[in-house]
Amino acid sequence: MAGIYVHIPFCRQKCHYCNFFSVATKRGRDTFTDALLREAEMQRDYLAGEKIETIYFGGGTPSLLKTEDLTRIFDVIYSLFPVDNEAEITLETNPDDLTEEKAREWKDTPVNRLSIGIQSFFDDDLAYLNRVHNAAQARQSVENAREAGFRNLTIDLIYGIPTLTKKKWRQNLELFFSLDIPHLSAYALTVEEKTPLWALIRKGRYTPVDERQSVAHFRTLLEIAAKNGFIHYEISNFSRPGFYSRHNSLYWLGGHYLGLGPSAHSYNGVSRQWNVSRLDGYLQLSGHQTVVEEKEILTPEQRYNEYVMTSLRTVWGCDTEHIANVFGEARRDFFLENARPFTEKNHLYQEGTRFFLTDEGKLFADGIAAALFTEVEP
Ligand code: SF4
Repeated sequence: MAGIYVHIPFCRQKCHYCNFFSVATKRGRDTFTDALLREAEMQRDYLAGEKIETIYFGGGTPSLLKTEDLTRIFDVIYSLFPVDNEAEITLETNPDDLTEEKAREWKDTPVNRLSIGIQSFFDDDLAYLNRVHNAAQARQSVENAREAGFRNLTIDLIYGIPTLTKKKWRQNLELFFSLDIPHLSAYALTVEEKTPLWALIRKGRYTPVDERQSVAHFRTLLEIAAKNGFIHYEISNFSRPGFYSRHNSLYWLGGHYLGLGPSAHSYNGVSRQWNVSRLDGYLQLSGHQTVVEEKEILTPEQRYNEYVMTSLRTVWGCDTEHIANVFGEARRDFFLENARPFTEKNHLYQEGTRFFLTDEGKLFADGIAAALFTEVEP
């Protein structure tokens, strides 16, 4: 099981909360695809010939790519890697780019899934986030994708925005379910240090994010998603049966992936590495020398901790038999002992050898995982 992630680092403007590597400039766009293709050539052996089951264009804003550049990227990827005929191929899009004409162009490429960054169907929330698009474009983008023939759609929504009342959040969810889209990613708004939102809140110009509001929104989300028959298959992801994101599931289930583009991460089962998070540096280096900024060989502790962290967040749960087989019985016993207080508090429950978060436990997922970590060697 392997995948390829392609990071397209350009955006029209920076959203206030954004913590991803992206630049709101046109500089470098003309030469970027060439650099990316040189990197793909250099990394052709990273996955040792494993079949590619998913390709994901993330960013940044991949929908800003010219279709001819997208096609060139596919030509090179398909010539260098054995891509499965049934591969899931996702393009992240912003509503303001998702015109019917553009969607039809994408339909003529191998892209078979669109992820639309809607975030909210209300203009005041979008203004708080400093998104480029408006609510009308958000609705229209779904229609345009459908008209062009895309059925496998997912949208992103953000909750916990101070302007998003409980009633509006319900309306966002009700609208989402009325659109008959098979997959939803819903994230709590987090204020990362050094982002514009962080600075605006510190200066008192923006209303701070209220943790209790986010918790209330999360509970509403679980309730409405369940009512609509969606499976909560990862802490931030919900879908109809058969529509799980195969690409993200690959990350959560320990699959291997090659990341191309600035700041992209790669993992091949032994080492994890990530590329430089600078556009100029990436453009200059790519094809001439490595664009990998850092590489680490994972210790057994790190691999165990990652397994606990990611598996607990999913519908597949954390399997203590897997822990015993891969990381040793001592770690399995450590897990069992440290999980007990959480099962007693009804934050975890056990089925056979697997542990799962309860709905209440999902509110404390990071803290519970941290309590189950073993020490990472320096
Ligand atoms: S569109 Fe996405 S990557 Fe670009 S600034 Fe907004 S959140 Fe960040």
